[in-house]
Amino acid sequence: MDIQVLGAHNCESQNSKLVSLLIDDVLALDAGALTSSLSFPAQQKLKAILVTHQHYDHIRDIPTIAFNLFLRGATINIYSIPTVYEALATHLLNGRIYSKLLELPQGSPTVRFTVIEPGKSEQIEGYSILAIPVNHSTPTVGYQVTSPDGKIVFYTGDTGPGLADCWKYVSPQLLIIEVTAPNRYEEFARESGHLTPGLLEQELTIFREVKGYLPRVVLVHMNPELEAEIEAEIAVVARALNSSINLAYEGMQIHL
Ligand SMILES: [Zn+2]
Ligand SMILES: [Zn+2]
Repeated sequence: MDIQVLGAHNCESQNSKLVSLLIDDVLALDAGALTSSLSFPAQQKLKAILVTHQHYDHIRDIPTIAFNLFLRGATINIYSIPTVYEALATHLLNGRIYSKLLELPQGSPTVRFTVIEPGKSEQIEGYSILAIPVNHSTPTVGYQVTSPDGKIVFYTGDTGPGLADCWKYVSPQLLIIEVTAPNRYEEFARESGHLTPGLLEQELTIFREVKGYLPRVVLVHMNPELEAEIEAEIAVVARALNSSINLAYEGMQIHL
C-alpha cells in the first residue's frame, strides 16, 4: 500500500494544504486538496473518495474534482455518512453555488454517493473499508482501510479525545490521526473536538492498553502557524511512549 499525503494541515496557504490522503492512486481519504494536488490524468485515476465529515476543509475539492470529471464524461464514487450527503446536496452541489453533480448528467450523475454504515465492513474498489465513529463537533467517522495484501491503515479524520471504544474495532499497522494545536490550546481542543500532543499521548496510552501494541503514528491537520510548537511537544510524547510519531507534510510518501 502506497499512501501519499496531499494535504496535511487545517489551514491553506501557498505552503500548506487541507487534509487529503491518496492510497495507491485510486482511493482518496478526505477531499481538502484533491484538485490542487493532482494532475488531470491523476484525478481520472481516482475511483473513490471516503469522506470523514462535512466540515469545509475536508470536502472542499469535491465540487472542483466533480466538475473536472463531468467535463470528461467520467464519474466518481463518494462514500460517507448521511450528514455529508446533506451538506453537499444542500450547500455545495445545490445548483446555485455549483452544478447539481449529484444528479447531473441525468441518469448517470458524475458524483455517485453511497451512504456508509459505521461498524459494517464493506468492499470498495478491492479494499476492505470499515467506518468507525470518532469524537468531533459534528458527526464524523474514521476509516480503516485494508488492502488486498493485508496492509492496514486507520485514518481518524478530525477527532477529540475519548477514542477507547474506537480502538476496540481497529488494528492498524499505521495510524494517521490528527493533532491540531499545541498543549496550551487543550481547552479549545476539548471544546471543538480536536487533539493536542498531550491529549494524543493519553489516547495512544489507551490504545496500547487495549491492543497490546502501538502502530507507527503519522499526524495531520496541524495548524501551520503552531507547527513548530506541536513538533517539539510531539517529540516528548514519542520519547515517553518509545514509539514512532511523525508529522505529515505535503508530498510525504508512506509505503506499507
Ligand atoms: Zn472538522
Ligand atoms: Zn478539519
